[in-house]
Amino acid sequence: MKLHEYQSKQLFAQHGIPIPRGRVAMTASEARTIAEELGGRAVIKAQVLVGGRGKAGGIRLAGSPEEAEELATQVLGMRIKELPVRKVLVDEAAEVQTEIYLGVTNDRAARVPVMIASVQGGIEIEEVARKDPERIVRVWVDPFLGLREYQARNLATSMELPRQLWSEFARIASGLFKTFLDADATLAEINPLVITRTGQLLALDGKIVLDDNALYRHPGLADLRDVDEEAASEREARKYGLSYVKLNGDIGCMVNGAGLAMATMDVIKSLGGEPANFLDVGGGAAAEKVAAALQIILADENVRSILLNIFGGITRCDEVARGILMALQGVRREVPMVIRLVGTNEEEGRKILADADLPTAASLNEAARLAIAASQVEAVR
Ligand code: GDP
Ligand code: MN
Repeated sequence: MKLHEYQSKQLFAQHGIPIPRGRVAMTASEARTIAEELGGRAVIKAQVLVGGRGKAGGIRLAGSPEEAEELATQVLGMRIKELPVRKVLVDEAAEVQTEIYLGVTNDRAARVPVMIASVQGGIEIEEVARKDPERIVRVWVDPFLGLREYQARNLATSMELPRQLWSEFARIASGLFKTFLDADATLAEINPLVITRTGQLLALDGKIVLDDNALYRHPGLADLRDVDEEAASEREARKYGLSYVKLNGDIGCMVNGAGLAMATMDVIKSLGGEPANFLDVGGGAAAEKVAAALQIILADENVRSILLNIFGGITRCDEVARGILMALQGVRREVPMVIRLVGTNEEEGRKILADADLPTAASLNEAARLAIAASQVEAVR
């Protein structure tokens, strides 16, 4: 789950990281009031959960409250990468001298968090990694010891920060690491952390991604979820405990088990098809869950056929088959479906489906071929 910039910066501030003064506005006149409070000059920043807002025109510098209102009107009417802007952050404008990148994420290979810093701040770190990899410095942090003072200093010296900023930088780096750890985040990033003309360090932008699997430990953070920013399909999927990722192909996939779901997508691709989604319905085949999953898949206009790949282990195939039939009541059936059902009691399961006019396939390859063929027939229709 991603947090907005303004939410991320509030968490930073709770950990002692300096942030600009400012507040969120839902309307242009609110933005004007906030700019007045800040003394006139302000930055108007679109709050949407995508990067590159600056390039898209979603970050604007206003010289007066009137201009703040005018620019907020423009930004609140924008869409950035398809997302409508519903809120703007109105921050005190900073006089920027230098932009630094500072972030923490997990290094899965090293199995510890890694803190990453670069003097190439402001632009996306992936771009720096591609173009100027030698300008990125890293320290690996023992989660039990936390970020040590010497590690922060190593980052500061490698970036050739002025000596008088070292201890403040160390304080910010350690605050960022604590933010990351306390929130069970998978990413905590300040980009840019700036040195102002008057020589202060200030976090101008913030991004935090929380680990969904740890959200139950942070009810306060879970409440920060901005449901307006999610696709309706993702919201539905979460409600039913389904793992769903929309993709760009035309073959809907419904599979029990994440590994099997990935294997299913691989097989579809290797036979020349394009999966429309990843969907793991989890164990069992509760009719309600299967029905919700089908609705989500069918809501995707690109879907031309659906492949259900179910492995009946502890849940028997005949139960699964009944679950599918129950789920199909009330679901529109124009889209062709191919079902591959194997495991305990598969004969009975297939018979139940055959009696209901639903074709089953004996192997995954066969099922994928049928689903691809069906999608092509649908495509010429
Ligand atoms: P992003 O494009 O979504 O990453 O948004 P940022 O908040 O990082 O803003 C993009 C860029 O706008 C920053 O890298 C800065 O160069 C600039 N910027 C943002 N806030 C200020 C500000 O208060 N003063 C000045 N001078 N520039 C700013
Ligand atoms: Mn940024």
